[in-house]
Amino acid sequence: MGRRVQLYVSADIVHLGSAYFNASWPWERWAAWPGPAGPSDPAKNHDAATLCHGYAPWQLNVARFTARIVELTGVDGVRLDGLGGLAAPCSNPAHAHASAFENQGSGANERIARLTRRAMDAVASGAGAGAVLSSEGYSDTFHPHTQMSLAMFYPGRGVDAMRVALPEYRAAAYGPDAGAIETALNGWMGGDSAHALRRTWPYAAACGEPPLSGFPGPPCNYPLDGGRATRWPELRATFAAAILPGAVADADPVAPADPEFECRLYTAPGYWLLLAARWNGSAPTAAATEIVIPAAAGLFAAAAGPTVEVSAYTLGTSTAARVRRAAPAGRPPWGAHRGPAASVSLTVGLGFSAVLLPKPGCAALLLLTPAVVPPLDAQGGNSTTITLRLHAPWQPQQHTRGVASRVTASVTAPGLRLSTPTLVFDDNATATLTLAVGKAAAAGIVSSPAYFMLTIEGAGLLPTRRWVQAV
Ligand SMILES: [Zn+2]
Repeated sequence: MGRRVQLYVSADIVHLGSAYFNASWPWERWAAWPGPAGPSDPAKNHDAATLCHGYAPWQLNVARFTARIVELTGVDGVRLDGLGGLAAPCSNPAHAHASAFENQGSGANERIARLTRRAMDAVASGAGAGAVLSSEGYSDTFHPHTQMSLAMFYPGRGVDAMRVALPEYRAAAYGPDAGAIETALNGWMGGDSAHALRRTWPYAAACGEPPLSGFPGPPCNYPLDGGRATRWPELRATFAAAILPGAVADADPVAPADPEFECRLYTAPGYWLLLAARWNGSAPTAAATEIVIPAAAGLFAAAAGPTVEVSAYTLGTSTAARVRRAAPAGRPPWGAHRGPAASVSLTVGLGFSAVLLPKPGCAALLLLTPAVVPPLDAQGGNSTTITLRLHAPWQPQQHTRGVASRVTASVTAPGLRLSTPTLVFDDNATATLTLAVGKAAAAGIVSSPAYFMLTIEGAGLLPTRRWVQAV
C-alpha cells in the first residue's frame, strides 16, 4: 500500500549527442533500419536515434545500464520504455538479421527482458533481486522476467484481456491517459488522475478519421475533457485486495435497462466488489438502476435471508450509503449462464459506483465523518478532527462492541502530526483522530497546495486511504 519509486529509461531511444556513439561504433550501426536504404531521420525524433531491439550488443547494454541504475540508486525498480512496444522491421546489415522481422514482436523483447532480469538480480547492493522490472507493453512471452506493464491504450468497453489471461501481471495506468472509470474496470493501478475519463489517446486518430497504426482512438461520443473529478484514487485502496489480483467473474454483471453501463464483479477472500460505471461517464437519468449479476450462487450461499444490507459508495462524494440486495429473481435474461442471478437495485448517483458485497466474515469498513478530510493550513496553523466508525453489520457478532474488540488500526500520514498512531475503538465502535501539518510546515518547506497520504489499516479492517490537502 506504500509508494515505490521506479526510474524510467528508454530501451531504444538514444540522443545523437550521447557519448555512447563514437567513430568506430556510430549511431547508424546501432539503429533500426526500416529498409535497406538506412535508418530513419533522427531529426524527426528530437535528434535521437531509434535503436534495434533485435541487436545483441544493444540487448546486453540495456541489461547492463539497468542493473547499474539499480546498483547506484537503490531504486525499487526500472521501467524500460519501448520494451514490448517496438513494432518496426530492421534491415541494418550490421545486425545480420535472419529476417527483417526478427526485430519485431516478442522475440527480441523477450531476450532484453531475460538478460535485464538476470543482470538486476545479480546486483548485490541496493534493491537488487527485489527490484521491479516493468515494460511499456505486456506480453506473455517476456512476463516471466517482468512484473508490471504500463497500460496506455484504450481496451474498449470489455476488460483488458491481459488482466484476465495473466492476473498476476500488474498494469499501471499511464496518467493522465486513462481515467478512473477505465482504471477501475480493468483493475489497473491508478495513475495520478482522479478524473473519470480518459484524456489522451496515444498515437490515435481522431474520431471519424482513418485509424493510425491500429491504435484505438476515442469513440465518437466520448467526452474529451476528462469528465468530473472522482475520489477513486482514495477509495481504491479499500478494495485493493480485490482489484489488484484482477480476479473478475467469468460473466460481467449488466444493467438490462441501461446498456451504457459497464460492470465488473471482482472476487476477494472476504467479499465481492461490484463496480458499475457508465462507460462514457455520463450520469444516468433514472433514479435507480438494477444491476443483474449472473451465476451468483456464491453470493446467495452467504446470505442469511432474502435481503441483505450491502454498502455502496458514490465516488463523487465517497459517502457510504445502503442498498438492499434482492433475492434471486429467476434465470438471467440471456439464460446462458448456470446458477441463479443476483439482482442489485442500485442508486447509482453519478453513474460510477463501487458496491461492497460482503461475506459473513468480511472485515469492517471504516466510515469517516466527514467523509473527505477538510483541508489543513499548510503553515500548521490549525488542526482538524475526524470521527471514525466501524461498519460491519454482516459479521455474525453484530453488536458494535464485538466488532470493536476484533479490530486494531494503525494510522500513518508522513508529514502530518497525528493525535495517535493507533486507533482504539470504544463500545460504539467509534474513535476520533486529529491531524495537523507537522514539522515540515514549521520549517516552511510545504508548498501550497500540498497533499499528504493518510493510511489506516490493521487486522479486521478494510484499509482506508485519504489524500489530505494543505493550503
Ligand atoms: Zn536490427
